[in-house]
Amino acid sequence: MTTKELYTKGARIWVEHPEKVWESATVTADYRSGVLIVKVDQTQEIRQIKIKDEKQMPPLRNPSLLIGQNDLTSLSYLHEPAVLHNLKVRFCDRNAIYTYCGIVLVAINPYNELPIYGDETIMAYRGQAMGDLDPHIFAVSEEAYTKLEREKRDQSIIVSGESGAGKTVSAKYAMRYFAAVGGNASETQVERKVLASSPIMEAIGNAKTTRNDNSSRFGKFIEIHFDDQYRISGASMRTYLLEKSRVVYQSAGERNYHIFYQLCAAAMHMPELELDHQDSFHYLNQGGSPDIDGVDDLRAFNETRTALTTLGVTETEQQNMFTVLATILHLGNIELTCEPESTDAEEDGAYIDQKDKHLQKVCNLLGISKPELSRWLTHRRIASAHEVIVSRMDIHRAAFARDALAKRMYGELFAWLVKCVNRALETAQHRSHFIGVLDIYGFETFEINSFEQFCINYANEKLQQQFNSHVFKLEQDEYIKEEISWKMIDFYDNQPCIDLIEDRLGVLALLDEQCRVPQGSDQGFVTKLHETCHKYPHFMKPRFGNAAFIIKHFADNVEYQCGGFLEKNRDTVSSEQLECIKSATSCRLVHAMLESERADQSATLPPPSRRRAPAVPQASLTQPPRRASGQKQTVGAQFRASLSALMATLSATTPHYVRCIKPNDTKEPFQFHPHRAVNQLSGSVIGECECDWEVRVCANERACVCRVQTEADRGRAVPHVAWGRCQPPPPPHYVRCIKPNTKEPFQFHPQRAVNQLRACGVLETIRISAAGFPSRWLYLDFFNRRILEKHLKDPDKYQFGATKIFFRAGQVAYLEKLRADI
Ligand code: ATP
Ligand code: MG
Repeated sequence: MTTKELYTKGARIWVEHPEKVWESATVTADYRSGVLIVKVDQTQEIRQIKIKDEKQMPPLRNPSLLIGQNDLTSLSYLHEPAVLHNLKVRFCDRNAIYTYCGIVLVAINPYNELPIYGDETIMAYRGQAMGDLDPHIFAVSEEAYTKLEREKRDQSIIVSGESGAGKTVSAKYAMRYFAAVGGNASETQVERKVLASSPIMEAIGNAKTTRNDNSSRFGKFIEIHFDDQYRISGASMRTYLLEKSRVVYQSAGERNYHIFYQLCAAAMHMPELELDHQDSFHYLNQGGSPDIDGVDDLRAFNETRTALTTLGVTETEQQNMFTVLATILHLGNIELTCEPESTDAEEDGAYIDQKDKHLQKVCNLLGISKPELSRWLTHRRIASAHEVIVSRMDIHRAAFARDALAKRMYGELFAWLVKCVNRALETAQHRSHFIGVLDIYGFETFEINSFEQFCINYANEKLQQQFNSHVFKLEQDEYIKEEISWKMIDFYDNQPCIDLIEDRLGVLALLDEQCRVPQGSDQGFVTKLHETCHKYPHFMKPRFGNAAFIIKHFADNVEYQCGGFLEKNRDTVSSEQLECIKSATSCRLVHAMLESERADQSATLPPPSRRRAPAVPQASLTQPPRRASGQKQTVGAQFRASLSALMATLSATTPHYVRCIKPNDTKEPFQFHPHRAVNQLSGSVIGECECDWEVRVCANERACVCRVQTEADRGRAVPHVAWGRCQPPPPPHYVRCIKPNTKEPFQFHPQRAVNQLRACGVLETIRISAAGFPSRWLYLDFFNRRILEKHLKDPDKYQFGATKIFFRAGQVAYLEKLRADI
């Protein structure tokens, strides 16, 4: 149909809106070239829309009949407003958090416990084809598991989305599904260990941020191994880019890693660590937000310990681990002053009082000599061609060096624990296939973007490339299988953007070069970039200033501030401090952790003016590999290598995609906190029930939370949402009603949602399929509704495949309209 035929009086369209992003409108007069007159449905405002290019007419709305479909590809018009509207209708009106968009499962965080994850739901999805039941993370997991069996090919589930969107929750549900369906009856109980890895990794790698109370500060890829009978036989985990700067610095409202607070909560049970209240530690109190609503750190500590024990981390190893953590906290409290403690010292610079009790505690914990440690916390060795000079550091440089040491120790501890988890999960049992679950940060763009955002967005470019080529290939395969004629189309390939980052003279190479040259600086790096990279179409110089560069990513243009790039890429620590600890410590774990460390003679500290740790989080890989020369690899080079290994792994699997969307930014008011609810229950007063919620505390004091949706449901047995280890649900002992919050859950902010849809490639999938035949109906479904040739005269608008009919965009809507008119 021509534009004139589509945009006639009464045609229903979408027009842009600053807050709602899109709003519905109706064409009031048949379209004449150049101008479209429309009435906005809600406000009745009449608008004249100038049409410069008929290829860019306002998008048409789908017939009401198609709205709310659980797979967006069954829509006739598949564009941004259609996607947004459908997701919104499903989420807000039907409380449906999952929707398919072709091969992608879109999951919108409800910020609300839903009764859809119990064992009975797992059993309901077991053995079902993907389209037969409502979209669900279990349906995707089932699809992966079935394909593993059927195709005998490794599978992967790639979960992405921004912070707080629900990636980790989704990944955990997927793992729970595999543990349930691939459970092994044998003694080893591998699946129990696989599930126990989550609380450990969350204790050491998650923290409270302003966006998420349990934010993962690292990426992870877990492979669940299956034997010939498709039973779980083991697992392994790889981690990416732990945010180490959090160990020494937290922004307002944020916390350090959970494990530190858990340890402080348990301090009285471990007097040998000489710990104190969490507020007394500099490394824990900078965010001014030491507690998390509804989280009991002592209880969490016990859970962490139980999980560690489940994974075979011995009591001694656990004690060593706590020693390292306590050492880090005391290290952060060592006071560096400008005042020399004895009058005969005349040098300027940093001093430590020999009576400093935290210095003493670090030495007690590690079994090292006090004068030696305080010397290397305040001095550094500078080697020139002819001599080696030891000089006192100024106070800022000393504080920086001390923080670098704390970060390195934490990074090594994290790496050591990942090894422990892998040691426990990689059983000797036979392994023939795996399903990998990737829980990795999505595309990020903030007001100020630094090296971390650069790495994260680089990772997302790589994942997006893999996604595009997979979606494109699937489309082609479907057309070939259905034997319809089809001309290959080009799809958006982001290789040029990846080239800009990875080329021989690309961003990573120039950054490494600046890190190597003696006078290298952040400014030198960005100047070199401007000189060298302007020829890349994805590179831009900002209009103002010369301390930043812009990369045109697939999702958005991002401006990166160069400050701190070099130091974050180098991630060095004073070799003398490391040697001092390593050579003398009586703590075997510290020794083992630092064993891989080589004295890094090129260790470069930041200029004296540098204060404290940077406000933006600093990233580093957890296991720094070495170059052949023995020199430590830069963070960028390590990340590049680990990404390329990840891509190689993923491309040998059949991928399944889950895109998590955060529907609003006010997580707090819309959340129902089971923990908090249970805390309220510890009294025994039965209050009046004035809300939709009911909480049951089980006999064993672990809680399960039941949702009562309607008045009629009250008092009836409703599916329970498991929390903790409450399976099967024991009979309730007490019933209390708790008001979860004063505001409505299921809040959906279109602007926030649409940005995420743009950033996570959902709309890109649509673009690829819209170029071909986006609508497809099974013959049987179609037979009941249509008389085709009579109404669709142009044979290019549809094709008969082997099992389905394929339609060009808009044709199904047209047929629907005819049907309605009859
Ligand atoms: P980050 O990148 O910061 O790690 P994330 O995407 O992993 O974020 P999650 O920690 O998975 O986010 O989710 C944040 C919070 O949102 C959870 O703690 C939980 O309260 C809520 N949430 C997420 N998914 C669901 C769900 N399916 N049902 C109920 N609540 C959910
Ligand atoms: Mg997470």
